[in-house]
Amino acid sequence: MPWIARQVRELLAQRGHAWLLKGPSGLGQYELALALASAWLCENPTSQGSCGVCSSCHAIAVHTHADLAVLMPETVMIALGWPLSEKAQDEIDKKTRKPSKEIRVDAMRDAVEFSQRTDARGRGKVVLVFPAERMNTITANALLKTLEEPPGLVRFVLATEASHMLLPTIRSRCLAHTMKWPEAHESMDWLAGQGVPADAAQNLLRSAGGRPADVLSLSASGLSSDWWAHLPQAMRQGDARHLADVSPAQAIDALQKLCHDLVLRHSGAAPRFFENSQLPASHASLSALTEWFKRLTQSARTAEHPFNAGLMLEALTADAHQTLMSKG
Ligand SMILES: [Zn+2]
Repeated sequence: MPWIARQVRELLAQRGHAWLLKGPSGLGQYELALALASAWLCENPTSQGSCGVCSSCHAIAVHTHADLAVLMPETVMIALGWPLSEKAQDEIDKKTRKPSKEIRVDAMRDAVEFSQRTDARGRGKVVLVFPAERMNTITANALLKTLEEPPGLVRFVLATEASHMLLPTIRSRCLAHTMKWPEAHESMDWLAGQGVPADAAQNLLRSAGGRPADVLSLSASGLSSDWWAHLPQAMRQGDARHLADVSPAQAIDALQKLCHDLVLRHSGAAPRFFENSQLPASHASLSALTEWFKRLTQSARTAEHPFNAGLMLEALTADAHQTLMSKG
């Protein structure tokens, strides 16, 4: 990710022991946070970042560095391939509970204890928190204490997609860095390197609002660019089969983007997520679209645990159809 490499250089040139990386999802917050942590812990770092070959870099690559504490919700740890604590793994294996979507108090306690220990490799320690907005008030306050009085050489990098949800006291303890957007050709090159074909990448990049890391998760979840291109017409026709292979949460996200673009078209602006030619003919009024968007936002609250996913997708399709066919 060349745009991440640029930001690593920029951040390393400044003195900061606690960074808050903020900006919308999909710009590589996690990658930047990890690159920064790697550079801090590397045995032969340069102004460009970590060397990538020393034993510290290797330990980070295999996700077992004694001086790096990674604080994430368990669902994110699992998705990114970080090991859980023995206790947490055991509870999940025995199905005592499900992987947590929040950063757990237990994990925070471990991290506080970690920051009080002596470092194992002599280059200090790093606590990486991602996504930082998934801390509740208790965990955030525990982190705050450590941020205020860091015992010894501990550096922090917090990455967030919703910095407004963080405690103001946490924000004020960190140096803020706003994530930079990649150039279009950089995104395309990077996606090509990740095995996304160029024509699909172009379309998906649009559907992801220009955020390359989001494209990768879209394409990993099986959403094709064809699927995206035909979504608006399918919704105008009330064809619920088009949503058969996606989760309610994905469907709502896609419909909100469609609604967003229709609102833009209303005001004579260019659409952001779809091509103009992909948008359906519709006479829906601005207020009808606004109301639709509100209903989608409401549905999003129950989308993670829908009573019945199939019924929910049908209801979403019917609502989209009625809104698109409504007149003035
Ligand atoms: Zn290294």
